[in-house]
Amino acid sequence: MLRRTLALSVVMVSLAFLIEAQQQRSKRARRATQSGERRSSKKPARPPVTSFVNDSDGRELIVRLLDVGEGDATYMRNGSSRVIIDGGPDPETFGRYLDSLGLNNSTIDVVILSHQHLDHYSGLGELFRTARHIHVRYFFENKDPAPAATLATLRDSVLSRVDHDSLVYRDTDDPCFDGRSICTITMTGGARLHIIAPFPGGDKANNRSTAVKVIGPDSASFTMWLAGDAEHEEINWFETVGYRLNPGMSVDILKADHHGSCNGVTLGYLALIRPTWLVVSVGARNGYGHMHKQAKSIYRSAGVQWYRTDRNGTITIRSPGDARGGFTITPERTGTNLNGPGDRTSRQAGCTGGTR
Ligand SMILES: [Zn+2]
Repeated sequence: MLRRTLALSVVMVSLAFLIEAQQQRSKRARRATQSGERRSSKKPARPPVTSFVNDSDGRELIVRLLDVGEGDATYMRNGSSRVIIDGGPDPETFGRYLDSLGLNNSTIDVVILSHQHLDHYSGLGELFRTARHIHVRYFFENKDPAPAATLATLRDSVLSRVDHDSLVYRDTDDPCFDGRSICTITMTGGARLHIIAPFPGGDKANNRSTAVKVIGPDSASFTMWLAGDAEHEEINWFETVGYRLNPGMSVDILKADHHGSCNGVTLGYLALIRPTWLVVSVGARNGYGHMHKQAKSIYRSAGVQWYRTDRNGTITIRSPGDARGGFTITPERTGTNLNGPGDRTSRQAGCTGGTR
């Protein structure tokens, strides 16, 4: 009798689990159908204005340094993964790129704000304009207090998506939220992104720039280093903290720190990075004298060739991710190592010799 009661209880409990599992399954299916309906009710994308939408869905890694004037905006695509680092100074200009890249009604997997200056964050507000229907999965920035009202508005947009669109908002000082200083993200085509914590003691926004190392889908054949507007203080810290060894700083392409300022480069830095190519995001009519003549002389003496957005337009880098390996750089307008209309000699301290 006891045995029969026991057996019956086991059957009853198993049945309860089965019913519960079935209910969960149908709940999930209902939710999926509803979100599918929500998706299909979205407006279709506006027609693109350039051929950027031909970016492939395969293993190829495409990195575009967008021509946004004096500021930074980089877009990457690998497989179905999309990454944006900074949005440039002007929402309208960045918005036109979102149109031409076919990014309305899409998911951007990772957005990184390198640091808190307007020429890097201002355009990013376009990602959160409701009419664009862009879903951002991860947003990284250093979360330092900042007085600018426009940055506060951007942060409000990010926070509201945390609540309403399951966005994950990460602090670059703890990029993986696990205490480590490097957070690695693998894109669906196999390319990887190391998001690297900035200098904790940085005395100003530039020296709190988050560095990013990009590794092509066939890892040995393409690497790139981007470090926002990091100046001498932070680039020296990158070495002392050990980033030279982990994640490694030697790469094929360097995005010029601080728009080609002399305070964004030293010979020591280039000895660590050992880039073949430099890409510079710089505005033709900038009041800072970028690219500084001292910076160009440092790049020249290290044998580094450059393309710059004010003269070459948007610069596109492609790494195929197949047996061919390697990478190509294609500027919108040809010409290497060009001078720009705004280039001047800088008189700031620490740049005079230009050979540190
Ligand atoms: Zn800047």
